[in-house]
Amino acid sequence: MLDRFNREINYLRISVTDRCNLRCTYCMPEDGIKMLKHDEILSFDEIIEVIKTGVKYGVNKVRVTGGEPLVRKGIVDLVRMIWSVEGVKDLSMTTNAILLAKYTNDLKKAGLQRINISMDTINPEKFNQVSRGGDIAAVFAGIEAAKRAGLTPIKINCVLWDASEDRNAEEVADYCKQNDLQVRFIHQMNLSTGEFSVVEGGDGGNCSKCNRLRLTAAGDIKPCLFSDLSYNVRTLGVEEAFTQAAGNKPKAGTYNKSGDFYNIGG
Ligand code: SF4
Repeated sequence: MLDRFNREINYLRISVTDRCNLRCTYCMPEDGIKMLKHDEILSFDEIIEVIKTGVKYGVNKVRVTGGEPLVRKGIVDLVRMIWSVEGVKDLSMTTNAILLAKYTNDLKKAGLQRINISMDTINPEKFNQVSRGGDIAAVFAGIEAAKRAGLTPIKINCVLWDASEDRNAEEVADYCKQNDLQVRFIHQMNLSTGEFSVVEGGDGGNCSKCNRLRLTAAGDIKPCLFSDLSYNVRTLGVEEAFTQAAGNKPKAGTYNKSGDFYNIGG
């Protein structure tokens, strides 16, 4: 479907949980998060209903995000259910890869096609510090397992959290070159102040060509990451929420004072 600005809206990013097994400093507040209760999180059937409605309006590309999607119980079953929706042509996931190594074969068999992995540094100490406790060895193991399973191309999302981190970015770029991975640099964003830029090596942040809607774990359809607009599928019903979100998609992002990356899925 075309929105008011003649942009083809065919991409739905789905946050399947607000939970994560890391606590990255630029994403998760120091003093923790107020997590959604179990019954506040959409069930698999509710998620599938939103996707089926989306397909009716032209969605054919779906990305599974979080929090960290691999901490959602039954995630392989959900991927299988999404891939079985007629009209879904492109199914991908964004993960921090900490749990990836044990899921790659099952995710591939379930229909997952490709994967983006968040990795801001290849330096073990820095990784541990930025993720507040993560082990980069698990990420490297996840990358190798994804390659073996054929979840390719593998894209590396590298957040540049500090301008002085150029050396770090070069190391990540070299690692990706040596390992046949595609790197995308994401300059640190700030939802509440509206600071964002186009993703280097990707298409995020380019408002004039924006083709996406987001579904949060709590059932809000958000027409734009940098906007407070959201339409809840449980309150309005799926069809109404979807058409209102697509119909009210802003020309460009401004700021978002009501959400956080960990519960919108970036
Ligand atoms: S800020 Fe909004 S309109 Fe712009 S690219 Fe991001 S989601 Fe799309």
